[in-house]
Amino acid sequence: MITTTLEKTTTTSKGVLSQMSTMDHEQVVFCNDEATGLKAIIAIHNTVLGPSLGGTRFWNYDTEEEALHDVLRLSRGMTYKSAISGIHLGGGKAVIIGDPNKLKSEMFWRRYGKFVNSLGGKYITAEDVNTTTSDIEYIALETKYVAGKPILLGGSGDPSSVTAYGVYLGMKACVKERYGNDSLESKKILVQGCGQVGEHLVDLLIKENAIVSISDIKEIKIKNITSKHKVNVIAVNDIYDADMDIYSPCALGATINDDSLNRLQCSIIAGAANNQLEDEIKHGRVCAEKGLLYAPDFLINAGGVINCYLELDGYKRERAIMAANKIYDRTLEIFAKAKKENITTHEAALRIAQERIHDAIKLHSRR
Ligand code: NAD
Repeated sequence: MITTTLEKTTTTSKGVLSQMSTMDHEQVVFCNDEATGLKAIIAIHNTVLGPSLGGTRFWNYDTEEEALHDVLRLSRGMTYKSAISGIHLGGGKAVIIGDPNKLKSEMFWRRYGKFVNSLGGKYITAEDVNTTTSDIEYIALETKYVAGKPILLGGSGDPSSVTAYGVYLGMKACVKERYGNDSLESKKILVQGCGQVGEHLVDLLIKENAIVSISDIKEIKIKNITSKHKVNVIAVNDIYDADMDIYSPCALGATINDDSLNRLQCSIIAGAANNQLEDEIKHGRVCAEKGLLYAPDFLINAGGVINCYLELDGYKRERAIMAANKIYDRTLEIFAKAKKENITTHEAALRIAQERIHDAIKLHSRR
């Protein structure tokens, strides 16, 4: 049964089962393969609406606790993301612990594919940070429970352009709510993280004549953008003090925290990163108190999961775009609900997602 617990991103010393119980997870699987160096955790949060789907994140976590906490929070976010998007999927996610530059190989991915396959379809994997369509190609040799396959193999390819499109629409809905019309022209927008999603997002913002600033820890990502667009480049440590109307977190989570909220002078936060609020309750409320309009991450970054979902059912890009278009109206609905019920925008989105899951539980119990 889904509860309404809101969460903080910091790790805890609680055991695995008690963390699963706090966040309502169904199953967590630990995978180890000495031959390839694979160490992974697959978390299945909820399968009421369908099989769990979520990408595999490859990250050099400092500790196993950090990896576990990340996968538990990310998989829970996937449940709500699919629920609020009206697709028939549950929430799951996987993390691989280690250095992607040292560990990736064909056999590494095929071994991982076998672990995914052993779950019999309860978990479907896809790309996430540091996992690409070519990695997915190897995984697909060992399991059919994989989405985001290359287009040449009949898949939908990298979902990040659809994710970026959804974020762009969510951002426009924020601008409509705040300024009365949804044009991004002349709005000062800072995109933090110019990876797969961030770069596509910048392309869309530039097309609409926004004044774009970018920041990334990797020089090559900055170059990819400055070689085609006129943008301001902001040093990583200066992001939260920069002059902007819209802050768009497109790197990693928990960037909305005590420190950044003390410094940010913008009026809107709308980005692709998962779990942006370090503490969902506290920082969601601080945003509201400061008059900062926060677009719930799991609502506006759902383009990727929508894209993957449609791959399972015979992919057509036009269908993915049509489905992602709904993010605009849904974002405005969330803002209206938050105002009406005097709750934060994050809580409003969470309530809608949870209602859909509760309704499905009631429907199943009547069979
Ligand atoms: P990515 O790895 O391609 O890009 C992330 C970028 O952030 C990288 O270029 C990295 O160098 C940069 N970065 C890391 N730390 C930074 C920092 N402190 N300051 C500035 N830049 C920093 O990942 P992506 O696929 O573009 O995803 C971005 C975010 O969106 C992630 O949180 C991901 O979980 C989320 N997301 C992605 C998708 C998708 O379709 N790819 C879907 C939903 C959510």
